[in-house]
This record gives sequence, C-alpha cells and structure tokens, in this order.
Amino acid sequence: MSARPEGGRLHAGARAVPASREEWVERVRSATDIVELIGQTVQLRKVGRNWVGLCPFHQEKTPSFSVHAERQFYHCFSCKAGGDVFKFIQETEKLSFLEAVEMLSRRAGIAVPERRGEPGEPGRRARLLETLDAAAAAYESWLGDPERGAEARAYLERRGVSRETVRAFRLGFVPAGWENLVKRLAPRFPEEALIEAGLAVRRANEGSGPPDTRPAVGGSPGAGRGPGVYDRFRNRLMVPLVAPGGAVVGFGARALAEEDVPKYLNSPETPVYHKGAFLFALDAARRHAAAEGELIVVEGYFDAIALHQAGLSHAVATSGTALTEDQARLLRRVAPRVTLTFDGDAAGQGAMLRSLGVLFAAGLDVAVVELPTGVDPDSLLRERGPDGWRAAREAAYDAVEFIQRHMLRAQAGAPGGLPGPGVDARERALQAVVELGLQGGDEIRRRLFLERASRVFGFSAEVLARATELRHRGQRSAEPIRAAVRAQRQVALSLERQALQALLRSPAELDYARSEISPADFEDPACAALAAELWRDPAGPFAPEPLAALARELLAADDEGPGRAEDPALRATFARMATLKLALRRLARELRGLAARQAQAGESEDRERAREFEEVLARQLVREELYRRLFRQAQAEPDESNPDQILMDIKQIEMRATGQSND
Ligand SMILES: [Zn+2]
Repeated sequence: MSARPEGGRLHAGARAVPASREEWVERVRSATDIVELIGQTVQLRKVGRNWVGLCPFHQEKTPSFSVHAERQFYHCFSCKAGGDVFKFIQETEKLSFLEAVEMLSRRAGIAVPERRGEPGEPGRRARLLETLDAAAAAYESWLGDPERGAEARAYLERRGVSRETVRAFRLGFVPAGWENLVKRLAPRFPEEALIEAGLAVRRANEGSGPPDTRPAVGGSPGAGRGPGVYDRFRNRLMVPLVAPGGAVVGFGARALAEEDVPKYLNSPETPVYHKGAFLFALDAARRHAAAEGELIVVEGYFDAIALHQAGLSHAVATSGTALTEDQARLLRRVAPRVTLTFDGDAAGQGAMLRSLGVLFAAGLDVAVVELPTGVDPDSLLRERGPDGWRAAREAAYDAVEFIQRHMLRAQAGAPGGLPGPGVDARERALQAVVELGLQGGDEIRRRLFLERASRVFGFSAEVLARATELRHRGQRSAEPIRAAVRAQRQVALSLERQALQALLRSPAELDYARSEISPADFEDPACAALAAELWRDPAGPFAPEPLAALARELLAADDEGPGRAEDPALRATFARMATLKLALRRLARELRGLAARQAQAGESEDRERAREFEEVLARQLVREELYRRLFRQAQAEPDESNPDQILMDIKQIEMRATGQSND
C-alpha cells in the first residue's frame, strides 16, 4: 500500500494517513462478525435478538454476558466489561488496538498495511508474528512434500497422529540442512527478523562454528561459518506454539534422528514467546473447557495432541516444568478446575507440589490423575483409548491425597523397615499440607483445605490450623507438628507393642491375628519387622539381634499392659483384643479415605465406591462388637462364653451384614 505520504510534511495530505488507516480498520470491522468471533471462545445461546453466555472476563455460574449482533458489541452486566470486536481481542489476547486490528485483518484475509519501521514499537510484535506464521507455513509445506516430508509423516503415523490432527495443530517438518528456512523466507523476511523470531542464529564469523557439529545433510557447504545466519531448527518435526487467538509465537521441535540432542528443542524467549507464560493448545482447549468445567494439564506437546485427537479437547501442555503463576492465571481465566497427571517418578514429586501450590494460590481446584510409572497420557490413549483416560480420571484424587500417598508411602517403603534419618515422613507430609494450605488463597478455602487434610490424615484440625497460623506469621511451624506427631506415635507404639507382647505370650492366637491383620499394620518399623518374624515363625528365633532383643524385652516386661495376665485363656482374650485394635485402626483409616473420596466425587454418584464404603463399615462394626464382647469377658465374666464361641457368633453377624463371606 502506498497511500501513505512520505516524510513528515504537515499539510492537508497528512490527514490521509489516519483516513486510510481508518478505512482499513472499518473494513476489518465490517468483515468480522462479533457473534461468530466471540462464539469461538464463549459458548453463546440465542435469547431474543441477542446472544448470551458466561462472561469470559469474570468467573460466574449464571450468564450475564451478552453479545448484540445488530449493534456489534458485547456487554457484561456483572463486571461491566464491554466493547466492540477490537476491544474484545485486545482484552482477551492482551494486544494493543493496532495489533488487534492486524490480527482480525489477517483472520478476515484483508491485507495488513505496511508500517514504518518502528523498532521496539507495537509494530515489532506484529512483524514477529508474521515471520513466525510464514515459518509455520513453510514447515507445513515441507511436511506435505511427497519426498522430503515422507520420513516425518511416517513418524507421525507410527505415533498414531491423524492427518486431521496434523492439520489442526499445523504440524510441520524442517528438512536437514542449514539454510532451508533462511532461504525460503528471504528476502521478504530479513535476517534480523528471523533472529528476533528465534528461527535463525547468526554465524560465528571466525573460529568456532555453530554449536551443532552434525554434518549438514543437504545443507550448503560451509554452513557453520562465514557471514550471515543459519536455521536454528534442522531435521526436526515442528510443533507450532499457538497463542490464544491463533497466532504462532514459537515452536517446539522434536528430533527425528535418534542421535540428535536435545530430543526437544524449544524456541528461545522472544518478545512474543515466554515459556513460563505459555500453555500449549490453550487456543483450542479453552473452547471446550467451559463444558468440561476443567482443563487437563500435561507435560508433553504430544500428550496434549493425543488427548485432543481422542476427543478430550480440554487439554493443554506445559513445557515440562512446574506451573508458573502466569500459567495458573491463564488457566483460571478459562476453567475453575485443573487436572494434573503424575506418573509416579520421584523426581516429579517436588515439581508436583510446587504446581499444586501455584494452582491453589490462583484459586483453582486440583485433581491429580496418577498414571503407572512410565505411562504418559499419549501411551495410555494408544493402549486403552479415551475410556482408559476416563477411568484414570475417575480415580483421580486431590492435593491432600497426593501428599498422603506420596509422602507417607516413602516411609512405608523405606528399605530395611528401620526409621530413616532426619524428619519423619508423617511430619514431612503434614508440613507440606501446612505449606499448601498457606497458599490456599482466602480464609474459607484454607479452612476447608485443613479440615479435609485432618480427615484424610486422621489428625487434629486444630494442630494444623495452629501450625498454619504460625507459618502465616512467618514463624516456624515445625514444633507444634512434631510434638503432635510424636504424641500420636507414642499411642501407636504402645498399641503395637501391646499387640506383639500379647501374641508372643499367646502364640496360639497368631492364626487369629493372621486372619485380621498383617505386619504392614504395624507403623513402627521395629514393630513391623518383629511382626514379620513372628508371622514367619512364632517359635523364633528372631533375627537380627535387635529384633530378638525387642522380643525378649516385650516378653519380660510386666508393665506394658494386659498381655501379662497369668491365666492362659485371659491372655488369649487379650491377644485377640490387641489384634482387633490394630484391625480397627486400619479400618478407620480405610473409611476416612473412602469418605474423603466420596466427598470428592461430589454429584457424580459412584455406586461402586458407596458399596465399598458399606462393606468396610460393616467389617468395622462387626469388629467393634467383637471387641466389646471380649472386653466384657476379660473384665468380669470369664466363663460366660469362650472366645471361639464369640467368634462364631460374630462371623454369623458379619455374614448377614455383608451378604458374603468374611475376608
Ligand atoms: Zn463479566
């Protein structure tokens, strides 16, 4: 376009500048339908002459956002957001007015007028986006090239990526060689533009070549040195990083040759691409997030792509790091809940806790889908399809359970079953709860979180609240938690020691113990180890020596509870009572877990879980009843009935209660 006058002469003709620009703006405006534009990101429903939907600018449950087709503007009655097509794009895409017009101009197929070179000005951004888009188009065409793209297409086919998916995500390929893109985009896009867009790298003029020492297959001779620039991405599958609104802001590039490292190469940070503020596939996902009420966040681009292809289009991907605050804000704008995936490797645990904290702080609800080690969403979908994902999603748990599972498990699985050095796992887990609770935004959310944590951990909510309060004031919270954990452990220890003592003194009751509990029911590592020995052979000898010493100590002690009774029948009763106490402790825990899961499931009624709950409850009630009878017997009337008779009675009660045989 040359309607622009040269130089800065201020006469009548200068007014033609805004006039022509205005003309262009109005052309773009009339070529854009506001209902269609907004309808891409907001679900709209026709009401009378207008369209209504949930406001994208604030969180709401009942629609107060309306779009006027005739007058081409939108308005929210709640948060008062409003404007025309350009304002909408400015607000949702965080663009300047001119950039918004340029974006809609490209969208409508209207040529964007040239701008004067304005280094560092808003025009720079548009220019960058144009360069990146041209690169994406080039990569797409190379992937489609019958010869050059064959290998990359075969790779995608092996991964099960369909042609529709390739098109939807604008996947591409860059052949081996040093100057494919540089040459393809010249002279329209000068070297400087390619460098700024992160697509090309300037050659070192002397001495060392580019960091990549791979022979330049099909490249120009001496590609690494000399004047000019060379392609950053070579012989790679190209995944465009598309911002909400459709602009390509960068690329993720996957190596096709095994020897190429790194496997994934991302665009560097540029004025339009910030790794920590970008979410892959958000552009497509946000249209589906409203209906699902959540976004799935995965780590790999191809995990997100696989989910979309499987019809789970509310998925986005990070670039494999813990979520940032910027990303959490982006997510929050689109959905109230986020589903994360966790594949069980220990290295991911810390990153997961950080992500949970960030999401929490942003006011998001979180569900964690646990996948078997080594399984990612992509492989899960390939093996088990969308149903496989849905089943995993069904079994998802929340932040509190994540901590419980992964920080407590560390203790249960400790090698040798002996107490590890440093802090107790239970203490560490509760500290993590406190830290997470602190980030939980407002007071109400924090209280709900702590209440839930106290239910899941079976731990006093007051202790957690007090520790949180201390941390909130910048003080250390370790002490109240440590003291509470110790007190709890003392109780557990004496319970476990009593049970072992009773069983050592009445080895005949071990068969009964085996039917109710297992060594895993002992929390104290030494007690658990002795129980395992006892289970193996009640007659001993127990090894190693520390366990034998513990056994001797328990047998000798006469101050450790009721197991010391002289009467063998009474000792047997006590052994069963101690066994039942441990069984009841486990059942109570199981019930807490199930109740928490049930509360989590919310409206989606889960009959399987309800049935499981009832079964465990029945088992618990039966054992409580049995314990009461044994207790009465031990107290006063030892001759009323013998323990075996009681057990038979109880079995019958149990069969009636559960409608099935005992475990
Ligand atoms: Zn609003």
